Amino acid sequence: MSRLLFTNVQIFEGTESQCRPGEVLLNGNRISAVAAPGESLPREGVEEIIDGQGATLMPGLVNPHCHFTYSNAVSLADINALPVEENLLITLRNARTYLDYGFTAVIGVASAKPRLEVVVRNAVNKGEFPGPRILASTPEYTVSGGVGDDSRLDLFVPSIGIVCDGVEEFRKSVRQLIREGVDIVKFNNSGDSFTFGRMPGDINPMTEDEVRTICETTLNVGKRLAAHAHTDSGVRQCVQYGVELINHATFASDATIEALAKVADRHWVTPAIAARYNTTYEAQAWGITTEIAESIGNKRELEAGCVTMQKMHRAGIRVLPFGDYGFAWIPIGTDCRDLEHMVNLFDMKPWEALRAATAYGGEAWVGNSGEKLGRIAPGYLADILLIDGDPLADLSLLQDQRRIVAVMKDGQFHRRFSGRAERATGKVAA
Ligand SMILES: [Zn+2]
Repeated sequence: MSRLLFTNVQIFEGTESQCRPGEVLLNGNRISAVAAPGESLPREGVEEIIDGQGATLMPGLVNPHCHFTYSNAVSLADINALPVEENLLITLRNARTYLDYGFTAVIGVASAKPRLEVVVRNAVNKGEFPGPRILASTPEYTVSGGVGDDSRLDLFVPSIGIVCDGVEEFRKSVRQLIREGVDIVKFNNSGDSFTFGRMPGDINPMTEDEVRTICETTLNVGKRLAAHAHTDSGVRQCVQYGVELINHATFASDATIEALAKVADRHWVTPAIAARYNTTYEAQAWGITTEIAESIGNKRELEAGCVTMQKMHRAGIRVLPFGDYGFAWIPIGTDCRDLEHMVNLFDMKPWEALRAATAYGGEAWVGNSGEKLGRIAPGYLADILLIDGDPLADLSLLQDQRRIVAVMKDGQFHRRFSGRAERATGKVAA
């Protein structure tokens, strides 16, 4: 096991409100010791010492609502129309982009093609291509007329999701996708403004039997669940049937928030608020004016979602950033804009947003496996960033690849530290 020591760094531990000066010792792919301020760690047996020059050392970012098979297109239909070969290349490129931007772990929640996330996860795990730690998802499961099913009676359109109706169809398909190797089964028990009025976000088109069947079939073989749940009934189903990853949760009622808060240690909420905020205010160039966003219900989802997330945060529910990046106006790589949204829209403090992006994200990624990810503490996996500057003072640093001056996943450098000044002036390529 190789031993590597970071010295002269300001440490953001993942759960603390301030950075503190210190040193961090790695043993292979794990953190073995962290020095308290003013102390230094023993140098014996250390093979490499990296002087961080005062940079901030923090856990790698975790994206718990990741669409790394998406092509930064204008619509789901455009992504769906990609042949699988092109879509595979895009997915491999996105995996690298995420790692370039400091995301050392991602949770897929809706593969654009059935096996894309699975095969890219496997290739990254073998070291064939660069990328974060990946949990691979099914395509999103939907019902006829739900999000992703754009067919008409007189015109069949292949869905980006898997369209099933009734418990037998869901049970069979979920089992088949688990056979193909997914980690996450994702289903849509809510509509969305992106259906342009056909199935609004406050409608839940799935029956109780269908939801129960998806969840029981998945949990029965030890896999994990994510749900596109804008609706109050959808969020309640997540609590009732063990859906750990709750996407959106926009219209959760006070009673549902209270019920969720009682089991808050079992769930993570990812509102994906950029798909509301940026779509409402910043997508004009792609034909979605604020008026259109309002008419399809997107602005309403934004406003309701902000109120709900403030309540959930106050109630101690883990609200996480990132999600739904992969469209033209929220392209992959700009995901850390979400940290500003959390401060501006959810009343979070910058350190709380960063805790959600690291420590909470790490908890979401490992689930109940017993693994440790997302903090700078002994025993945790060595997923580590060095940032040129203080991200707690300026969260936008994390949107600038030149300020992310080192990226390490599993004890291995993806981007090796070569000093602060060179990076800040952009002389060194990724
Ligand atoms: Zn999503």
